[in-house]
Amino acid sequence: MEFVSPEGLRLDGRRPMEMRQIRAEIGAVSRADGSAIFEMGNTKVVAAVYGPREVQNRSQQMSDQALIRCEYSMANFSTGDRKRKPKGDRRSTEISLVIRQTMEACIMTNLMPRSQIDIYVQVLQADGGTRSACINAATLALADAGIPMRDLVTSCSAGYLNSTPLLDLNYVEDSAGGPDVTVGILPKLDKVTLLQMDSKLPIDILENVVQLATEGCKAVANYIREILLENTKQLEYRRGV
Ligand code: UDP
Repeated sequence: MEFVSPEGLRLDGRRPMEMRQIRAEIGAVSRADGSAIFEMGNTKVVAAVYGPREVQNRSQQMSDQALIRCEYSMANFSTGDRKRKPKGDRRSTEISLVIRQTMEACIMTNLMPRSQIDIYVQVLQADGGTRSACINAATLALADAGIPMRDLVTSCSAGYLNSTPLLDLNYVEDSAGGPDVTVGILPKLDKVTLLQMDSKLPIDILENVVQLATEGCKAVANYIREILLENTKQLEYRRGV
């Protein structure tokens, strides 16, 4: 199948190095301590954060740092293609773990000993790249909850189809069987905190694809900073500062 036309356009009209439209909204779940919705094209996820709060299971309490828990799930209605268990399957367990480890890299857990932070991420609409969208939503929700972080961790994926590196794969591109590289970075600290790949990729191409995904992460970071700044301005405005 042709994923890049002779004119250099992808199936959804994007250029190879073009990301999907991103959109975010802070405070979507008013009961949570922090929450956000994050959209990457047709992929739409919501994140809700509770904590820092008392550790529910005392045997898991740590005297020198906070316990981070993360639960990823897909809403039953999030995909029309295949019927899925909303949570508890192997894929969800793996993605929950990946997201938790990624968020642990930026949360200053040492400042909140003997406490617990719960991060819930749910996919409302799935069209590829849900783990990246969930990481971006979780970052915003953690910032909204006022959780101290070293940096804003952001994520984006890139692939390689028709001998072309492609940024931010959608479901059709993702399911073509080519490589799908998901990267998570700490943009200010200039560090990679997540690097996952399925399928095969020629070694000499890997650097290009990782570089492309990293550029996507940086674009997301710029957008997230804008959203947080805008949110702070609105809070100040409401307080009449
Ligand atoms: N997908 C789906 N149902 C599932 C799992 C995945 O429809 O139960 C679709 C969904 O669009 C998802 C894509 O397949 O975004 C790719 O899934 P993958 O496991 O590669 O994770 P993702 O790219 O979402 O991080």
